Amino acid sequence: MKKTFTTASGVYQTRALPPERCPWARRLAAAVSALALAAACSTVPITGRSQFNMLSPQQDMELGAQAYTETLSKLKINDKRPEFAMVQRVAQRLAQVAQAPADFQWEVHLIDDDKTVNAWCMPGGKMAVYTGILPVTKDETGLAVVMGHEIAHAIARHGTERVSTEGLGEVALGVLANRTGTDPALWSQIKAIGFSLPWGRKQELEADHIGLILMAQAGYDPREAIGFWQRMAAASGGSPPEFLSTHPSDETRIERLEKLMPKALKAYQKRQSSTP
Ligand SMILES: [Zn+2]
Repeated sequence: MKKTFTTASGVYQTRALPPERCPWARRLAAAVSALALAAACSTVPITGRSQFNMLSPQQDMELGAQAYTETLSKLKINDKRPEFAMVQRVAQRLAQVAQAPADFQWEVHLIDDDKTVNAWCMPGGKMAVYTGILPVTKDETGLAVVMGHEIAHAIARHGTERVSTEGLGEVALGVLANRTGTDPALWSQIKAIGFSLPWGRKQELEADHIGLILMAQAGYDPREAIGFWQRMAAASGGSPPEFLSTHPSDETRIERLEKLMPKALKAYQKRQSSTP
């Protein structure tokens, strides 16, 4: 029951009008700008927050795929390890319920790196799980907590949202105006700002919210999320791992998760009763 839908592409064709029809040209220009702006506004799944994003979900996918290839080339993939089956199962179950803003090409690999406590999902649905996080996730449900959280960043399009709102509006507009001939320098700038910096606190809390509901919808007990984040806090011993560096304080996080728990449990029970 994978849901896919595409948003307006934001590409509009206009013709030069003769001088005597200038007022119409002005009106047309205004309409085109309004449409472009409308195309830049979208709604975040599950939380329903309105988001300003000058890039299209397709661009998230293209940029993410590029960044994925680049990043994986520097890492040691080991999908032959026995844990990979579980990683793949969790990714598939979550992707099935994730309301991706486009037809994401989901992909996951296991990174052979016992020292790094990390997992991520690039814009567009390309994921990696490091073996170093497995002792903290402990079991399949624990893994669903962290992967649900990471997938949430991708479906909420946090990377390109940041590009659109944090001083890079011009860059994003450049991409919007020139979708076909994207300048590689521009793309690497977008990747540097949108994909590599730690997430902001609001985005972290939103990813927690979406991730909690996703795991429940995928049939994983959301109550396990509390234990996972507590183990994560203990494992990091006061200095959070890289991908958690701007994560909210443990108390705030757990307080928010507990508030959302009734909603998550409803989704979990619905899934339980519909699964034979
Ligand atoms: Zn996060």
